[in-house]
Amino acid sequence: MSLAEDLRRDFPLLYPATLNEWMLEAPEGWRDLLYELSRRINGKPGQVQQVKSKFGGLRYYYRERDNEVTAAIRDAVAAAWMTCEVCGAAGALRREGSWWLMVRCEEHADGAEVIERYRDRETALASIRAHDGTVSQAGITAVVELEKAGYHIGPEIDGGCVSVRRIGNNDDVAWVDVGNTVRVGGNGPLFFDIIEALEGRAKRDRVEQRLLD
Ligand SMILES: [Zn+2]
Repeated sequence: MSLAEDLRRDFPLLYPATLNEWMLEAPEGWRDLLYELSRRINGKPGQVQQVKSKFGGLRYYYRERDNEVTAAIRDAVAAAWMTCEVCGAAGALRREGSWWLMVRCEEHADGAEVIERYRDRETALASIRAHDGTVSQAGITAVVELEKAGYHIGPEIDGGCVSVRRIGNNDDVAWVDVGNTVRVGGNGPLFFDIIEALEGRAKRDRVEQRLLD
């Protein structure tokens, strides 16, 4: 049985048949952490929208989540960051070729090189230099995604935020809050490009924030 099938069997409320196979892609190596997460949030209000691995990170989209669900997802994402997708052993974020990102242990590295600046959480924290130390795993993942999409990530411009520019263009600057909720700020077209690059994950927060601005 695949992990997805096992999750459907053991947590039918979380993973109903309406969540089709494209919406539930669970790497075997993340079995333990996905079971732990599922146990914590089973029976909570809200709804799982999609589960997948992307750019070496766990994506766990959940509609109308409360703080407990948010915390449980955050823990799972943090664990996935350091867990081989294939076997569940301790892993590190690796790059294969110019762009493919994955979390793999030594045995399953298959030639992919560790990205030194994301070797572990402390190194990643230091590399993006958010001075107040509130960088979340989601924030680090967002930075990795933006780098892959060709953006230049600068040092912090404000507490918990990093600046983001297109390489070769210093005029249009946006910022990304890399704290527990990833938010994107800015006024130019870059803002929308970054939202796009992050696949809409930060969009709702930003829409809310724009209303408050
Ligand atoms: Zn492995």
